[in-house]
Amino acid sequence: MDEQRKEMLKQLPKIDEVLLILEKQNIYDLAPRDVVKETCRKVVQDLRDQIVNAKKKLPAELNADATTVAKEVEESIKGLYRYSLRRVVNATGVILHTNLGRAPLCPEALERIIEVGKAYSNLEFDLIRGERGQRYDHVSSLLCALTGAEDALIVNNNAAAVLLVLNTLAQKKEAVVSRGELIEIGGEFRIPEIMQKSATKLREVGTTNRTRLSDYEKAVNDKTGLIMKVHTSNYRIVGFTEEASIESLVQLGKNRSIPVMDDLGSGCLIDLDLYGLQHEPTIRERLAAGVDVVTFSGDKLLGGPQAGIIVGKKNVISKIKKNPLNRALRIDKFTLAALEATLMHYLNATEASKKLRALKALTEPVADVKKRAENLIAKLQKENFDSLKFMLREDFAAAGGGSLPTQQIPTVLVAVQNKNMPATKMEEKLRQIDVPIIARVDKDEILFDMRTVAEDEFTFIVEGLKQITSL
Ligand SMILES: *Cc1c(COP(=O)(O)O)cnc(C)c1O
Repeated sequence: MDEQRKEMLKQLPKIDEVLLILEKQNIYDLAPRDVVKETCRKVVQDLRDQIVNAKKKLPAELNADATTVAKEVEESIKGLYRYSLRRVVNATGVILHTNLGRAPLCPEALERIIEVGKAYSNLEFDLIRGERGQRYDHVSSLLCALTGAEDALIVNNNAAAVLLVLNTLAQKKEAVVSRGELIEIGGEFRIPEIMQKSATKLREVGTTNRTRLSDYEKAVNDKTGLIMKVHTSNYRIVGFTEEASIESLVQLGKNRSIPVMDDLGSGCLIDLDLYGLQHEPTIRERLAAGVDVVTFSGDKLLGGPQAGIIVGKKNVISKIKKNPLNRALRIDKFTLAALEATLMHYLNATEASKKLRALKALTEPVADVKKRAENLIAKLQKENFDSLKFMLREDFAAAGGGSLPTQQIPTVLVAVQNKNMPATKMEEKLRQIDVPIIARVDKDEILFDMRTVAEDEFTFIVEGLKQITSL
């Protein structure tokens, strides 16, 4: 190590010195002793690492004195009081954005969470019989009514649902799946890996683009535990393709006494064709075809909280409920409360498409989106931003969240040009304000997609632009 570095390391303040300064400023009102001490150690260690690891030239500011380090420790402790998980404005036009929390909850779901969370509840208590009940019972009647299932079970997310079903029905056995359906969903969910973790042997059949019923027939034997169909919810294979119909797989399962599972993923409860969108298989449709069990997410097209929903035949669901793994994947009471309120909206399908924000964004006529864009521009123009120019743009939004991958959804954007700042800089700054705005950038414009922005979020955009232009 060179002399300069050695000297700088020697100059770093001692922990006790820093602590003394902080104690005088009543730091222990903010955090307990251990936390303060560890933070001091960490800040000094960071400085030490920077000095040791710096490439050639050492920045002068690294030579920090005790007061500077104390200030940094205090800032770091104050940072613990700032909420890290916060609301943001999703101006990306990606409706079910997994990184932005997928589906926003409806007001009724939020009310139910507060109601059930603030007091005790009958989560696992049967009020009629006065004895222990099952937590799933609170949503199973609704789920059965809405899908035609005989019974239902809810777990943490759809990945957990798939794991649990595979482990229950095909542990130490083979599950037959088409090569065209070995999906990966963002965030490490891959069918072959989930199979491994559920102690199921993957038996691939067919090819990427073509799988016939005869491929399944040849693969089924006395080691087969399950015939599995996976909805290619986030991609499509087009061109020279063939797949075995769900009905023919159900028939094969019946003939050989093998259960048939359908991982539908996005889990749609309404007929999207009615809104001019591509056909997305509904849960009811798949159960009516005779499959034993269907799994899907609560926070994709359903538009509710994160959950993995398992519906199907009573005998199969009852086996799944008894799997000890179920206890480890169990759903919490807030999710159940929110899910119940979300599902209730589906008793009236047109109601659901208005009340559930993700569904509304997906099905809203583009004329209404355009109206909102015009309203936002009118509101922005009243503010007299000197450096900003606002324009309407037409483009396409996306369903996102592993749903309707090829669906182009017409949308209208508000484009903003800033003569004092490049669009990439604006995008970066808008991400770092109190209510962050997540937007798209195209060349010298920042774009706010009005399909995912609600009228009551306009003030955040106005305030956000004020903040970043006044800096
Ligand atoms: C999204 C999806 C999953 C994973 O569901 P999560 O809710 O993200 O855990 C599994 N299978 C399919 C077909 C999916 O679309």
